[in-house]
Amino acid sequence: MKILVINAGSSSIKFQLFEMPAGTIAAKGMVERIGQADAQLHYSANTHQICRSVQAADHQQAMKAILAILTDAQAGAVKDAAEIQAVGHRVVHGGEEFTGSVKINDAVLKSIERFADLAPLHNPPNLTGIQAARQALPNAVQVACFDTAFHATIPQTAYLYGLPYEIYEKYRVRRYGFHGTSHRYVARRAAELMGRDKYALNAITCHLGNGCSITAVKNGRSVDTSMGLTPLEGVIMGTRCGDLDPAIVFYLADKGYTVAQLNEMFNKKSGLLGISGVSNDMRNLTEQAAKGHPRAQLAIDIFCYRIKKYIGAYTAVLGTLDAVIFTGGIGENNAAIRRQILSDLPQLGIEVDAARNEAREPKERLISTDRSRVKVYVIPTNEEAAIAADTYRLVQS
Ligand code: AMP
Repeated sequence: MKILVINAGSSSIKFQLFEMPAGTIAAKGMVERIGQADAQLHYSANTHQICRSVQAADHQQAMKAILAILTDAQAGAVKDAAEIQAVGHRVVHGGEEFTGSVKINDAVLKSIERFADLAPLHNPPNLTGIQAARQALPNAVQVACFDTAFHATIPQTAYLYGLPYEIYEKYRVRRYGFHGTSHRYVARRAAELMGRDKYALNAITCHLGNGCSITAVKNGRSVDTSMGLTPLEGVIMGTRCGDLDPAIVFYLADKGYTVAQLNEMFNKKSGLLGISGVSNDMRNLTEQAAKGHPRAQLAIDIFCYRIKKYIGAYTAVLGTLDAVIFTGGIGENNAAIRRQILSDLPQLGIEVDAARNEAREPKERLISTDRSRVKVYVIPTNEEAAIAADTYRLVQS
């Protein structure tokens, strides 16, 4: 069965075509700069690598371009679009309603629209992607996989903020958490690598990309996570500030900053970029720090320090810790950052093996010493594969 996985952003649609249940990728690519005159299609399948301009004034046209290339006589991966029996969509916010992936119907679409209030940058383009796919593939089953769903098991003690309870009752202001598909995928993979049942693992999963979040996984289920009502909370990220004293908002408002300016500052101008004044990209920062740039080094130090603090806190939350897992662009590729985060943790039973940590292959590997009580893994995330697997399961059911 062919399953198309779609990740629709405001100006791009990423896609992967899976052959299920094998999970092999038949084709993948993206359309970027949707809405602009110079929209581009990137595509690869078998020996074909294509990069060309396409007409994509909106998501509907981008989806048409994707189906055209997938069914192309030379480069295509299917003869007829009807071979694509299902489409799995990444949806960022599922509110409190969605605790797992679901088949999409009109009621589900309405809920995704309602939760756009909580994820104004993400849910509207996700919704547009779904509508475009429904139009282009009217006979395919459409499935929504939510970034928040894995965190539905977080207990109230961990998801409620210390605000008046009515604020939760009235507005559903609480911790939701994000990157759930990634945290779930790497936690399940670690259980497999350790030869354990997926519900018999206590782990701390560190998704460190441009956005970063840390999750405490107890008996295979998320019990706490660093991102909150929005992806702004938690550790510092490429451009997001992470945890703050909320009084900073009032203090800066008194200094004349508007809500819009603070929103922009906290989301786009803070974190690694804001502290270093150099870049939001960890590769640039490590380069600059090596050349002696003090604030590039400071940004790296704060980044690692905050993550270490979460690992300490979540170790206490879990009681016993079996594994720490690194994933995401930084987590998978930056050995120095992993080393710094996990330095001097003998009291937690974590000991990184320098050579295993530095080795680049295999991508998925154990990096702790043989005597480390807690196993440490690098596991490349694969949200698309997890979405394809959920979609396949729902189509079968
Ligand atoms: P992501 O959002 O998962 O794509 O991750 C983006 C972050 O990962 C950026 O800070 C990059 O600098 C970092 N990153 C991606 N690839 C590498 C690499 N090969 N080596 C070091 N850092 C990387």
